[in-house]
This record gives sequence, structure tokens and C-alpha cells, in this order.
Amino acid sequence: MSDMLYEAPGTLRAALALLSGANGKARVMAGGTDLLIQMRSGRIEPELLVDIKHIPDLRAIALKRGGFQFGSAVTCMELIEHEAFARAWPGVIDGVKLIGSIQVKGRATVGGNVCNASPAADSVPALIAAGALARIVGPDGKRDVPVEDIPTGPGKTSLASGEIVVSFILPKRLPRSGDAYLRFIPRTEMDIAVVGAGVNLTLDRRGFCTLARVSLGAVAERALLVSEAAAALVGTKVDDAALRQLAAAASAACRPIDDKRGTKEFRFKVAGVLARRAAEIALQRAGRKN
Ligand SMILES: Cc1cc2nc3c(=O)[nH]c(=O)nc-3n(C[C@H](O)[C@H](O)[C@H](O)COP(=O)(O)OP(=O)(O)OC[C@H]3O[C@@H](n4cnc5c(N)ncnc54)[C@H](O)[C@@H]3O)c2cc1C
Repeated sequence: MSDMLYEAPGTLRAALALLSGANGKARVMAGGTDLLIQMRSGRIEPELLVDIKHIPDLRAIALKRGGFQFGSAVTCMELIEHEAFARAWPGVIDGVKLIGSIQVKGRATVGGNVCNASPAADSVPALIAAGALARIVGPDGKRDVPVEDIPTGPGKTSLASGEIVVSFILPKRLPRSGDAYLRFIPRTEMDIAVVGAGVNLTLDRRGFCTLARVSLGAVAERALLVSEAAAALVGTKVDDAALRQLAAAASAACRPIDDKRGTKEFRFKVAGVLARRAAEIALQRAGRKN
């Protein structure tokens, strides 16, 4: 490995200046739980690491205009331990809790999980189902982008050179809403999802579904927002017929690969099963008094 500089700026402005001065040869570092492994194996050789963990604005979790906003340097553990956030978005927490061990979660961030762009990243389908936006700041200013538009393929994102994800913005939680994320792995823990499914839904007073979002991970080159699966729920009481349609639509949306963790056929089937089970948990959570 050639010489490399490490910087830990205390402001976003300083971080942006460092990145823009490095002509694309720098990497943002949050927890480093993906980045350091990629550097050790020689997959990437950045000339500059810009550690964003010392920027106070990027470490906050707050309610803004009724919705939660959390900084991209907030660790998974900090998010899990935030009671109000966990109450509002238990499905996002389902995904975040699955990221590695306790030690990994103490360093890793949701921002890193999204920007690392693994198709199997566990927080990503949950965030997509939640309708989360990522706030991005870069040399050309600020923009808010739906999370589903950030990873574009394995290890690739739509971020331009010099851009940083600074926070995630979740919509105001409506009454009678619930979300859930489930993944299938061949082992009991610390493995990569063969399929992941996130479902978020809202019911009206009579129990009819008025809003739904469904997302699948590990069944395509990036996590997918599956509108057809969500449409199977809206207008129904999320009964057996609706859940069957949801499962069929989820399976139909997959464009998986065969790999050592699972065959295409297995992924098609499991996507339907997991989407259905996640919807059942989301339904149960929506029925609880929040
Ligand atoms: C033992 C182990 C088990 C794991 N298990 C799981 C698992 O079960 N599920 C799972 O999904 N992941 C798992 N991971 C992967 C990893 O921990 C997660 O992807 C984690 O969320 C990455 O976050 P980080 O803050 O460490 O990212 P980093 O390693 O700091 O960064 C990852 C990438 O994102 C970029 N980046 C980071 N933050 C930003 C930002 N704010 N703006 C722009 N770019 C940014 C970096 O430049 C880098 O390319 C595991 C890792 C280990 C080591």
C-alpha cells in the first residue's frame, strides 16, 4: 500500500474541502467496517481517508417537522438505543440490528451500509420501505435523494466525486403504521442475506391499508423498491388474498443470481415468503397503540 493521509475534520465544510482537493482519490470513512477490510485486501487504495465521525452535526438524531432525521456518522448502536426512534421505526431497527456483531455495530453506520452499496446490505431495504431520503452535500450544493436511488450496483453509488451523505430523513409517522425487515441467512447470525425483505404500511381506522412500501435486498444488483407488491396491499385489510398477491409480486420482481449462498430458484421463492412474513409483522405493529 502506498502512503496514505488520514484526516479527521471537525466541520462538514472542512471535510468537503478535503474531498474536493483530492480529485477523487479520497474516501469518506465512517465506521470503517467495510472500508478497512477493502483496503487490507488491496481492493481499494485511497490516497486520503476523511473520517467524518468527529463532525458534531453528523452525529445527531432529532425530530424535525414531525419526522426523524439522523446524521450519517450516527452508529448503528446509537440508533438502536434511541427509544423514540426505535418505537417509530421498528422495521428500520430490525435491519440495523442485523449489521454484524455488537462490536461492529458500535462503529458501523447506516450511511456506510448504504454507501458501501452491497446488494445484501441489511438496513437498505428497511430504509427504502420507510421512504427515507438521504441528504447529500457536495461541491455543487445540497440535494435530497430517495435511498433506493443511491446504490446503483455492487459497490457503486450515484454519489458524485466529493459528495457526502450527511443525514437520513424519515417521513412523519402516521397513526396505525408499522414496518418490519426480515432476512434469510444459512447460519443463525453474522452472515450475508440471501434475501432481505422490508415492508412498511399504514392502516385507516377501519383497518384498510392506505399506504404501503415494499423493498427487497439481495435479489438483484441493488435493493429494489417493489411497487407492485405494495399495490397488492393498498385498499385491502391485508388479508390472506392480499398477502398471496404481495408474495407473488415480490417473487416476480426478483432478478437474482446463483451463488454459493443460494440458487435463483431459492431466492425467487424465499423473497415471496419473507415479504409476506414481514408484512404480517408490520401489520401487527401497525395495530399496536403507538
Ligand atoms: C464482521 C462483520 C459482519 C458484518 N455483518 C453485516 C451484516 O450482517 N449486514 C450488513 O448489512 N453489513 C454487515 N457488515 C458490513 C458493514 O459493517 C456495514 O456495511 C456497515 O454499515 C458499514 O458502515 P461503516 O460506517 O463501517 O462504513 P465504512 O466502512 O466507513 O464505509 C463504507 C463505504 O461507504 C462510504 N461512506 C461511508 N459513509 C459515507 C458517507 N456519509 N457519505 C459518503 N460515503 C460514505 C465509504 O467511503 C466506503 O466506501 C459486516 C461487517 C463486518 C466486519
